[in-house]
Amino acid sequence: MREVVVIGGGAAGMMAALYALRSGASVTLLERNEKLGKKIYITGKGRCNLTNVAGETEFMGNIVRNPRFLFAALNNLNNNDVMDLFEGLGVKLKVERGGRVFPESDHASDITRGLDRELHRLGCRVRLNTRVSEILYEEGRAAGVLLETGEKLKADTVIIATGGQSYPTTGSTGDGWAFAEAAGMDTKPAIPALTPIETEETWPYALSGLSLKNVRLTAPGPKKKPLYSELGEMLLTHFGISGPLALSASSYLPEESKGAKLILDLKPALSDEQLDQRLLRDFKEMSRKQIISVMDGLAPHALAMEILGLCGIEPTQPVNGVTQEMRASIIKNIKRIELTVKRLRPLTEAIVTRGGVSVKEINPSTMESKKVPGLYFAGETIDIDALTGGFNLQLAFSTGALAGQNAAQEEL
Ligand SMILES: Cc1cc2nc3c(=O)[nH]c(=O)nc-3n(C[C@H](O)[C@H](O)[C@H](O)COP(=O)(O)OP(=O)(O)OC[C@H]3O[C@@H](n4cnc5c(N)ncnc54)[C@H](O)[C@@H]3O)c2cc1C
Repeated sequence: MREVVVIGGGAAGMMAALYALRSGASVTLLERNEKLGKKIYITGKGRCNLTNVAGETEFMGNIVRNPRFLFAALNNLNNNDVMDLFEGLGVKLKVERGGRVFPESDHASDITRGLDRELHRLGCRVRLNTRVSEILYEEGRAAGVLLETGEKLKADTVIIATGGQSYPTTGSTGDGWAFAEAAGMDTKPAIPALTPIETEETWPYALSGLSLKNVRLTAPGPKKKPLYSELGEMLLTHFGISGPLALSASSYLPEESKGAKLILDLKPALSDEQLDQRLLRDFKEMSRKQIISVMDGLAPHALAMEILGLCGIEPTQPVNGVTQEMRASIIKNIKRIELTVKRLRPLTEAIVTRGGVSVKEINPSTMESKKVPGLYFAGETIDIDALTGGFNLQLAFSTGALAGQNAAQEEL
């Protein structure tokens, strides 16, 4: 019977342990925290959006980095398999808007408890308050781990599932980077992703708390195709922008994001010409009013004031004196408001980490290191990340399951 040690009791580590046990191994799961799945408790605002019912093509489209590397893992355990697995563990699920899957109870703790119960039923040795400080090697193979206490644990195979570097208070402080680098493996630097964006422009600060619905945010690319362009909701904050569109855009920005431009379209349903026609109609109807009265019909008052500020037009400007240039400027500052990235909010606030162990160093069919036999990786510690909607947890579950199965069955 293979002796498997799994480092990290998050989504990926628990799933790795479960699949290693189901594949007949003897498994020890090591978690530095006082409980398993600390990050799972805060996912989906405490409700845990554990996967998404999206079909294969749509699902792959929501993976930002290295989707091709994940084909085998997702083939082996896809979203339907994850749902069946949890239902089988007695956790009833429900599907919400956007195909997001949650436990019916709305309690993230049900997901962790379901896995925890099954691990104990299958005889997993779970050791809490146990931090691994080094991987041990024998004749070029992973052969066990050294704990912070100095204790050594021998193993036939070792799975590193120590997570990314976001929300480090949950225990994911990036130990996987150090373990991989010590093994001579290549890593990509940790960068915040799915995180709010600070802007150089200060006008959003003044409108902090304002939610913009049905707008389009675009991150232009070096070529014609933008890096990112989506319709949806965005929030203005005291440092810049947040909300679904800003979080997603952050994942697509260049690694060096400072100075990158974003374009906000407040009226994506109208072309420039249609907006111009609308302005002309409003001007006719309100010819004796001030321009702010027209703008109030196009945007919330505070935002309308800012738009006029960007145009350099006084809100008291009489409508019957608006020039063609002024109209063009209004259209530009409604359809193409330029925002400049000052910086991304840090890892402490990021939902996921971009970067991690290079996928070039890992066999996608097994999750084993190509350099070090017996050493496996799973979850966010790998250079993979996806958009919000349950995709990141699914990737943790899928890579965990594949690593667990293979670590349990490796020919020594
Ligand atoms: C606020 C927030 C909300 C989110 N909501 C969602 C959501 O609704 N849906 C979704 O799909 N994704 C969501 N995510 C992302 C998702 O939670 C992660 O992608 C996923 O949990 C990663 O799982 P993991 O097992 O790879 O890492 P983690 O969950 O970070 O687990 C790693 C574990 O390893 C342990 N560890 C680290 N180093 C050591 C060591 N040296 N020795 C022993 N143990 C160690 C850590 O304590 C930790 O428990 C959210 C993230 C955040 C921060």
